[in-house]
Amino acid sequence: RLLAGGTDLALEVTQFHRELPVMIYVGHIESMKRVEVTAEHIEIGAATSLSDCYAALAEEYPDFGELLHRFASLQIRNQGTLGGNIGNASPIGDAPPLLIALGAQIVLRKGNETRNLPIEDYFLDYKVTARQEAEFIEKILVPRAQHNQAFRAYKVSKRLDDDISAVCAAFNLRIEDGVVQDARIAFGGMAAIPKRAAACEAALLGSAWYPAVIERACAALAEDFTPLSDFRASKEYRLLIAQNLLRKFFLELQAPEVETRVTAYV
Ligand SMILES: Cc1cc2nc3c(=O)[nH]c(=O)nc-3n(C[C@H](O)[C@H](O)[C@H](O)COP(=O)(O)OP(=O)(O)OC[C@H]3O[C@@H](n4cnc5c(N)ncnc54)[C@H](O)[C@@H]3O)c2cc1C
Repeated sequence: RLLAGGTDLALEVTQFHRELPVMIYVGHIESMKRVEVTAEHIEIGAATSLSDCYAALAEEYPDFGELLHRFASLQIRNQGTLGGNIGNASPIGDAPPLLIALGAQIVLRKGNETRNLPIEDYFLDYKVTARQEAEFIEKILVPRAQHNQAFRAYKVSKRLDDDISAVCAAFNLRIEDGVVQDARIAFGGMAAIPKRAAACEAALLGSAWYPAVIERACAALAEDFTPLSDFRASKEYRLLIAQNLLRKFFLELQAPEVETRVTAYV
C-alpha cells in the first residue's frame, strides 16, 4: 500500500485492526511535493500537503482556498496530501468534486510510463478506481483560471471546522453575454463516487443565466443523483441542499457583494 500522510490509511489499522505488511512511503519524494505554476496548469505533486497546496490554489481559485481552510484541522492539513485525498477514492473526499469541476487531470505513473487521465474518469465505482496494478498518482494538473470563468465551491457539514462533508458542491461555468457557454458541475456525498451532474449541466448549457433555467437545472439534479441516507444527512436533505447550493451559486453571481458562504454549514 502507498502511504502518503497516513491520515486516512492509518484508520485501517486503528479502527479496523488490519495489518498492512508492506507499505511504500511517498512523503519523502521531493519531486512529488512540488507545486509549479506553468502557463496552462498548476502542477501539484501528489505528495504535497494540503496546507502547501493552499497558496497556489487559493490564488487562482479563492473558493478552493476556502474549502482547504474548511478541510479537517490544521494538523491533518499539514500531514494529509492531495494525492491521498484522491487515492482513497472516498465519495465524500473534499478535493475531488472541485478538481472534477475544474477539469483537472491526474498523471498516473508506473515505472517510466506515465499517462494522463481526466480525474472524473479515475473514479469508477465505490472505492474502485482506474488505477492499474503498480500505478501511482504522480501529480495533479489543475487548469489555470480563464476569462469569464465563474468557480464556486461549497462544503456542507454539521460543524464548521474539522468535519466531513455531507455534501460538497463545485460549480464551474463560463457565461458570455448572459448565456452559459460551458458548465462543469460536480458533487461529493451524492453518489458512490465524486461525480459530475450531467443532466444539470445539460439544462444550463446554451441557456440564459436566468431563474427559470436554474429551476430546470435544479430539477435535473434529481435525475443525476439518488443519494443515500446516513448519519451525516438523509437522502432528501442531500438532494435539497444540492439544489439549494445551485440556487445560492446563482444568487452569488447575480450579486457578488452578498456574502452567503458563511451560512454554508448546518
Ligand atoms: C480527523 C480527520 C479529519 C478529516 N477531515 C477530512 C475532510 O474534511 N475532508 C476530506 O476530504 N478528508 C478528510 N479526512 C481524510 C484524509 O485526511 C484525507 O483524505 C487526506 O487527504 C488523505 O491524505 P493522506 O496523504 O493522509 O493519505 P494516506 O492516508 O496516506 O492514503 C490514503 C489512500 O490513498 C492512497 N494513496 C496515497 N498516495 C497515493 C498516490 N500518490 N497514488 C495513489 N494512491 C495513493 C493510499 O494508498 C491510501 O489508500 C480526515 C481525516 C481525519 C483523520
